[in-house]
Amino acid sequence: LFARPFLFTKGCVSIKDLPEPDRLEIAFAGRSNVGKSSLINALCGTSGLARTSNTPGRTQELNIFESQSEPLRIVDMPGYGYAKAPEPKVKAWTKLVHQYLTGRATLRRVYVLVDSRHGPKDNDLSVMNELDRAAVSYQVVLTKVDKPSATELEKVIALTKQAIAKRPAAHPDVIETSSEKNLGLGHLRSEIALLLAS
Ligand code: GDP
Repeated sequence: LFARPFLFTKGCVSIKDLPEPDRLEIAFAGRSNVGKSSLINALCGTSGLARTSNTPGRTQELNIFESQSEPLRIVDMPGYGYAKAPEPKVKAWTKLVHQYLTGRATLRRVYVLVDSRHGPKDNDLSVMNELDRAAVSYQVVLTKVDKPSATELEKVIALTKQAIAKRPAAHPDVIETSSEKNLGLGHLRSEIALLLAS
């Protein structure tokens, strides 16, 4: 599945731009600057395609990547929680994300990325609320685990697990990753491969 790089298919500014729902999809969501582009690039070999950026909130589209070997599509959601984004933009993204997350029959799982230095924030919990309401499966992925100290990381992992345990439905366990240090990517790849096989 991951032997060949995923290919960038298109960027969608509106739900009607989405490709036909003809294959399984997984989506990646997270706050701006959480390390989403870096993770997608590291995971899928799409170097430079999921654009990493120091300008948080730049990605305003649903970016679509497709596997070259299996019928699987990856959807890179616009980052949320960028304080400086203008209000109408925030409204437009919120609508797009809501429509996608709640109305896409082929969406198999959402990976909710959470910064391992901070743990889940209110807007992460809002996304999880939305997913729980729509009965969409999701899994929390901690990013940048190379950054916090071992003690800090342990605390955040415990906090994150507690937050997930409080959710109304059961969800798979947290995955700890670092794109920079290539940690946890094999774990994430095998979870995705399992989804495809099931
Ligand atoms: P996005 O806005 O969520 O797509 O985040 P990016 O992938 O653009 O990353 C935001 C910043 O975090 C960049 O400066 C990256 O170099 C940095 N970053 C991303 N992943 C990691 C990681 O695993 N470890 C560390 N230390 N930094 C990372």
